[in-house]
Amino acid sequence: MSEMIYLDNNATTPLLPEVADAMREAALRFPANPASQHRAGQTARRALEEAREQIATLLGAKTSGMDADRLIFTSGGTEANNLAILGMLATQTPGHFVTSAIEHPSLLGPAAELERRGWHVTRVTADESGVVKVGDLAAVFRDDTRLVSIMGANNETGVLQPIAEISKLCAGRNIFFHTDATQWAGKLPTHFHDWQLAALSCTAHKFHGPLGIGAVLLRHDIALAPQLFGGHQQAAARPGTESLPLAVGMGVALEYWQREAASRAERIAVMRDEFERELCVAIPTATVVGRKAPRLPNTSNLTFPGVDRQALFLALDMAGVACSTGSACASGSSEPSPVLLAMGLKRELIEGALRFSFSHLNTPEEAREAARRIINAHKQLYR
Ligand code: PLP
Repeated sequence: MSEMIYLDNNATTPLLPEVADAMREAALRFPANPASQHRAGQTARRALEEAREQIATLLGAKTSGMDADRLIFTSGGTEANNLAILGMLATQTPGHFVTSAIEHPSLLGPAAELERRGWHVTRVTADESGVVKVGDLAAVFRDDTRLVSIMGANNETGVLQPIAEISKLCAGRNIFFHTDATQWAGKLPTHFHDWQLAALSCTAHKFHGPLGIGAVLLRHDIALAPQLFGGHQQAAARPGTESLPLAVGMGVALEYWQREAASRAERIAVMRDEFERELCVAIPTATVVGRKAPRLPNTSNLTFPGVDRQALFLALDMAGVACSTGSACASGSSEPSPVLLAMGLKRELIEGALRFSFSHLNTPEEAREAARRIINAHKQLYR
């Protein structure tokens, strides 16, 4: 069987050996609970707080002064989105919440929960390039709109959303703005403070950090009601013993990305663009979803009209190309992608769409070999 080429980095990225080493060292060097009062506990606490500050700084937060932003560790992006949305709104009387139809299920889930609690929720759609229009958001605002949540980069298409403009719009109306930066952070520079965000969610396993840790970054003046109860950790906003090794791993992964951010992004984009070019030349009916919009450098959502994506996905899996039929949570399901539906794409395009997502660990040779395998599989399946 051919060697597997991993092109599913938007689902999760391989852990970097440097990160694994740092986590092992932290686990062995700081064995105490960071909440314990003895000296060993205090040492662990200091290491934890250093990791917290390192991550917050790398995400562009303000980390000193009376108005320092807060970083709250969670178990990942799903919990971060739930905590941010429900935590910011839980104690308010129901009003209006605005989000988009292209968000990840971990954002649409809390949105549906808000509806059950009496909130009015508006889900704006995207244009055919996959971009949520600032004007569409402005058009649905009401006097009681309290929070807007729009993702930084879409997990299926990689299309970037106009975060800075949306934030400006919301700031002008005194509306809180949250972004799910799960696919953005660790791929592109993140400017939490400059973007005037109220809150941001992210997760370490999308940037070669460990699975099982994420964070909510919160502006200094925003109150967050806990969604878990029974402990005092993290000012009781997210109780439970913090994992120092995971926090250290998240910080090291982000730092590692930052060191070579620009050159890495360029290298990945060149490889991805070449991959798309080869496929579109060999398969003239193929198109790149979101090609007219700014995109993450690593993501390629390609649609092959006339081919069933599930059949192509299985053929590629057999041929040694790991890709995705949608978000990891929806893969395996034959339901059409809600993201591509919200972009108004034709049924035939949706049914033939697959996502390929690269990382700096992929090589140009792998990208070329993957394109070759896709062209072969397509030849056999095209009706
Ligand atoms: N938000 C987006 C945009 C994602 O792509 C994902 C994961 O695929 C999540 C949230 C959930 O993150 P986690 O897997 O850490 O729960």
